[in-house]
Amino acid sequence: ALMITDECINCDVCEPECPNEAIYLGPQIYEIDPARCTECVGHHEQPQCVQLCPVACIPVNPQHVESRETLMQKYLRLQAEK
Ligand code: SF4
Ligand code: SF4
Repeated sequence: ALMITDECINCDVCEPECPNEAIYLGPQIYEIDPARCTECVGHHEQPQCVQLCPVACIPVNPQHVESRETLMQKYLRLQAEK
């Protein structure tokens, strides 16, 4: 999963573009729910939020480093919830 750092300027660009609805506005800045972020695996070649963020504040979450296989399983689980 990815994460948003405190360099976020709350520009609102990333939130509507997340295919997994993993991005939400937290108390200060936007945040990413690691349980829902597949790094866009299953939807897109590249993480959409990273591509759009004007201040490049969305790195991999060091607490949630995941393989592509794990991310794909998360994608399939999220799809099954729909
Ligand atoms: Fe959403 Fe993709 Fe960004 Fe993860 S990488 S928060 S799934 S847009
Ligand atoms: Fe914050 Fe970047 Fe998302 Fe804008 S695109 S709300 S700066 S994380």
